[in-house]
Amino acid sequence: MSSPLARDFNSLAVHAGQDPDASTGAVIPPVHFSSTFVQDGIGNLRDGYDYGRAGNPTRAALEHQLAAIEGAEFGLSFASGLAAEDALLRAVLRPGDEILLGNDAYGGTYRLISKILVPWGVTVRVADLSDPTAVENALAESTPNLVWVETPSNPLLRVTDIAALARTAHAVGALLVVDNTFATPALQRPLALGADVVVHSATKYLGGHSDVVGGAVMTSDADIHAKTKFLQFAAGAVSGPLDAWLTTRGIKTLGIRMERHSANAQRIAEALAGDPRVGAVHYPGLATHPGHEIAAAQMTGFGGIVSLELSTGAQARAFSEATTLFTLAESLGGVESLLNYPDAMTHASVRGTELAVPETLVRLSVGIEGVDDLLADIDQALDTATR
Ligand SMILES: *Cc1c(COP(=O)(O)O)cnc(C)c1O
Repeated sequence: MSSPLARDFNSLAVHAGQDPDASTGAVIPPVHFSSTFVQDGIGNLRDGYDYGRAGNPTRAALEHQLAAIEGAEFGLSFASGLAAEDALLRAVLRPGDEILLGNDAYGGTYRLISKILVPWGVTVRVADLSDPTAVENALAESTPNLVWVETPSNPLLRVTDIAALARTAHAVGALLVVDNTFATPALQRPLALGADVVVHSATKYLGGHSDVVGGAVMTSDADIHAKTKFLQFAAGAVSGPLDAWLTTRGIKTLGIRMERHSANAQRIAEALAGDPRVGAVHYPGLATHPGHEIAAAQMTGFGGIVSLELSTGAQARAFSEATTLFTLAESLGGVESLLNYPDAMTHASVRGTELAVPETLVRLSVGIEGVDDLLADIDQALDTATR
């Protein structure tokens, strides 16, 4: 057990689940690659481990750390964010149940629900969950079993009042799930605001270095946890030992990375907002952002994602291909700055659906580089795109 003095977010991120190895004293617990564990007599296990899908010490250490950083009782680690979402949804829903989904959810979440869960018998409805009237209207039509929200959302950075949505969902007996990938627990703790479950793509900020794919489910509800853990075991989408270890290592610096991501993103959003070559700028840290006040109340920083619009789709594409420090690539949340053109990249699968994004939109994942270099890169790419 880590020291009882580890209470602060950064202390928990560094220490939770990271006790020195009992047998060797190694300060960093070793990575356990073994797929199987000796039994000292049939069923007589040394530390509860028998087989790697059911449990692995390196994964267990990560799961402990994941729970601690979200202020949850329980954490589970999966092979990807979508594997985590799939396990959770199939654990808590049954055919005939209904999901109310935010209208700018991650495209892969929409694909998972519409292509896998809907054929299984679940129904889905989509609404702008950042708009309380739209939520009321959706709930007046039918009662969902589960409400799924991302805040800030991807890629439009819409902000939803988590505490208010939790009250509304609970009033109709629905669970509230928050995808906390963008904010991370360094900046926002949905469970403390009333959400029932938090999910993550650990591929993004938790891992933080664009070198691992992973996902997580955190909750303090013992029943939800037990059902999801059973699916993790029975369907088997677990994270491997090295992936779990890389994620743990990434999480130790999550707090300081998010401070730097947020500071760099704020500078860039302000510069873009004052630039005549740029149209709308979406960043919750801007006072002009419609969700700014809610974000300021429920987050301790505004995060590292900034979206901007250019005048035309052609300009947005030209800008996307003209940066040199911002790397054109899917994904986000790494120490290096990335640029994504959602319409043809991350959100290509929702083109033509109610989750489609504007073709003028570009999403920046602002890294931890020197911000003046990043500003110079944006400036030269805007010149190229608007020439
Ligand atoms: C990337 C992402 C996911 C999916 O996670 P994978 O690790 O790619 O499976 C889910 N939600 C959000 C907000 C994401 O950015």
